[in-house]
Formats: sequence, C-alpha cells, structure tokens
Amino acid sequence: MNWRKLFVPVAFMWLTLVSISAQTQTQKPFDDWNQPFKPFRIIGNIYYVGTNNLACFLITSPAGYVLIDTAMQESAPIIRANIESLGYKLKYVRLILSSHAHFDHVAGHADMKAATGAQVVASAADALALESGGAKGFHPIGSYKPVKVDRIIKDGEIVRLGSIALKAHLTPGHTEGNTAWSMTVEENGKKYEVLFAPSMSINPGVKMVNNPTWPTIADAYARSFQKLKSLPCDVFLGPHAPFFDMEAKVARMKADPKANPFIDPEGFRNYIAGFEKGYNDQLQKERSGK
Ligand SMILES: [Zn+2]
Repeated sequence: MNWRKLFVPVAFMWLTLVSISAQTQTQKPFDDWNQPFKPFRIIGNIYYVGTNNLACFLITSPAGYVLIDTAMQESAPIIRANIESLGYKLKYVRLILSSHAHFDHVAGHADMKAATGAQVVASAADALALESGGAKGFHPIGSYKPVKVDRIIKDGEIVRLGSIALKAHLTPGHTEGNTAWSMTVEENGKKYEVLFAPSMSINPGVKMVNNPTWPTIADAYARSFQKLKSLPCDVFLGPHAPFFDMEAKVARMKADPKANPFIDPEGFRNYIAGFEKGYNDQLQKERSGK
C-alpha cells in the first residue's frame, strides 16, 4: 500500500477540520466522520464497532468486554447499535480505554460509562483531560462531558480482563498521554501481535522548537517514534479508520473471506514512517526559521 496516497489526504483533512473546530468549537464539520458503519470481526476476539472514520474496538471474553475509544458524543447511538447488532450486550462492557483524550475519541466516554457501569482506564496525562472534559492538559482540542478515571496506567502496564491482556505503551506527542495498546490474538491456531497504534500527527499550530507549554515536545515525539518502531505488529489498527485503510480492507475481506488484510505489518511501518517524515520536515523547517 502506498502510504502517501492515504496519508496526505487524511492529514490534510485532519488539519483543516481541527483548525475549524478549534476556532469555532463547533462539531458540525465532523458529521462526515460520524456516519454509521457495519460492525465486523477483525480477527480473533477483536471487533470494529466505530463509525466510518472514528475507530472503536470491542474486545470480548467470557469475563466481559473491553472497549477502546468511544468516538464523539454524537456517535453514541452508532457505537451502541454496533455492539448490540454483533450480539454483545452493553452491560458486559467492563473497561473503557482510550487512544488519546481528544474529543473525537473520548467524548462518548461519560455516557458509555453511565450506560455500562464500566471502569475508565487512562494514562495520568490523558486522565487530566478526561476528568476536566478536555479543558486541561497540553493543547486541548474540543470539549466534552467530564468523566471520572477509575484507574491510571503507566508505561508498560498490562490491563487484564479474563483472558484479555492489553499492554499500554505511552507515546507522548500528539497528546501528553497518547497511548498505544498491544495484545496477542489467536486465529486458526496461529498467534498474532495486534497493535492499536496511536496518532502521531502534530496538531495545527503546535511548535516543535521553543514550545513554551511543552519545551521537550520534540524529544517526546522522537522517543515515541523509536518506541513504536521497536514494537511487534502483525495486525495494524489505529484511531481513525483511514489511518489503516479500513474500508478497502473490509472490501478485500468480503472478496476473499480466507484473507485477512488487517494482518499488515508493512502498513504499520509505512504509517509510522509517514508521520515521522512529517515530524522531521516540521522540525527542519522550524530550525531553519522558515
Ligand atoms: Zn487527536
């Protein structure tokens, strides 16, 4: 897959829409990201239950389910219907995790917590944003209903629910508490490393050099890129569906039910390389004073 084809339009759309949102605090332009999408099993016990753009993942076990991300508050009816149409009951969602505390991934947390009684798990830095409804923390984007975080996770910590074991990899940059999650899944007697990759984009207006609110942000990004490149990844997933070419992969899966295009280590490497190039380009530009 050619990442340039995918990455450039996605990055452009993201920059445009986020700057609109930051200026007006309206979420209307995000309607395009909030269209229903038929939920499906990705691999093993992992299901896609998000919208057409905002990825949410349900991981099931006899002990209950883990939900990664809840999208926007307006997405709640879509996410709930998706979970139920797969035959899973909302009340068995026990844990709600996040990719990062921007409104398009976590604004649905408060209502989902109320509907399920699930515990919310987050990194310390993202917890600050979640508990303040997006007001606190570095470069907040969007406001949402505050939600109490029940458990703070550290880098390398494992969150368990029954047979599910998800490892947190803190990858600060996009937000201070930005988190990648990994787990092992079994399919047809084979084991695969699944990576819920984080967003590594630089938000509009955020400076890498002489950033007064986060002086070490450039180093944080650099370390996060190094960490991500060291993580094993067979199954590549991410917080926005276009990041991992979701719709095209679903079409390929339908055409050949034996294939699983979500097993895509190369797609992951290209994804990280695309963001790292964006980071290096910006760093160079800022350092040369252009
Ligand atoms: Zn974000």
